[in-house]
Amino acid sequence: MIRSDIRSLNAYHVPDSSGLIKLDAMENPYSLPDDLRGEWSQLLSASNINRYPDADMLDLRQRIAQREGVDADQVLIGNGSDEIIQMLLMAADQGACAVPKPTFVMYETIAKWLKRPVASMPLKKDFSLDAMAFLNMCAREKVSLAFLACPNNPTGNMWPRKDVQQIADNFRGMLIIDEAYGPFADQTYSDMVGRNVLLMRTFSKLGMAGLRLGYLLGDASLITDLNKVRLPYNINSLTQLSASFFLDHYAIFEEQAAKICLERERMSVALATLKNVSAFPSQANFLLLRVADANAVFDGLKEHGILIKNLHAKGSLLEGCLRVTIGLPEENDRFVNALKELI
Ligand code: PMP
Repeated sequence: MIRSDIRSLNAYHVPDSSGLIKLDAMENPYSLPDDLRGEWSQLLSASNINRYPDADMLDLRQRIAQREGVDADQVLIGNGSDEIIQMLLMAADQGACAVPKPTFVMYETIAKWLKRPVASMPLKKDFSLDAMAFLNMCAREKVSLAFLACPNNPTGNMWPRKDVQQIADNFRGMLIIDEAYGPFADQTYSDMVGRNVLLMRTFSKLGMAGLRLGYLLGDASLITDLNKVRLPYNINSLTQLSASFFLDHYAIFEEQAAKICLERERMSVALATLKNVSAFPSQANFLLLRVADANAVFDGLKEHGILIKNLHAKGSLLEGCLRVTIGLPEENDRFVNALKELI
């Protein structure tokens, strides 16, 4: 009764983090300040929860549009950017979907659910992307949709502007520039949005992962068509209210992001002094590390009460690699101290 390719998949696994310092999922470690929490609860308690949410979300789209300097009809809102990826893969023209490898896994996972062929371009050893080879692959594999996470997850690096521009200028399908980690990067490629280039952003890394809200910006006619495969009430009323509240207090989250960037630099310096660890340069809210025995370090950190992400796969580009999200200063200190004991 279920497609055999679906039966052979594993469901997306989220590890149990109870009782652990959670440095595995690129969340913002700062919680909502107490004074704002009161205001926010009041707002939510006044919601007419007996009614369906606003299906069109014009008000929220206008607010996002204003922040981004576009029109409301250039904004598509998703239940996290994951849902936008799904909408894109449902609606894109026939053809393959192109991704660098490694990158954010959901592009390929959702493509498989939808029986979309995936064309992936292995990164070089230093995690850089050969833009020309990527473009050639797109032409050869008849790619209709390409995803570039800028910065990339899990490697943390930013593709150089000239490379992304070259791909944007020469690729004929829809190019999605995914700036999930944009708030921690030193530049944005938002100026590249155009006829076939769209920009995806999320509230998740900026302090509101629990809301599930992402958005896509682009040409109004593309957004109108993509909106046709959006479930009517994909964003619940409480999230809509919370998102508006979030936008009203955006500066607080930006300040938190700035603190996270400073912590990232402090962590990088601390890790650089360790002999048996290499930390790769990152423009995101996490660091990618390489150690000799990633499995042992991952397990050892767990015993120290710290959960990170183990990306090790023998023979892969990520051999020996672990990804750690930047946490609170005291959490980061605990991580570095535990790591010192384990390597
Ligand atoms: N894009 C990238 C590059 C990501 O790493 C993630 C989450 N890890 C997402 C999109 C999805 O974010 P969300 O669905 O929470 O908006």
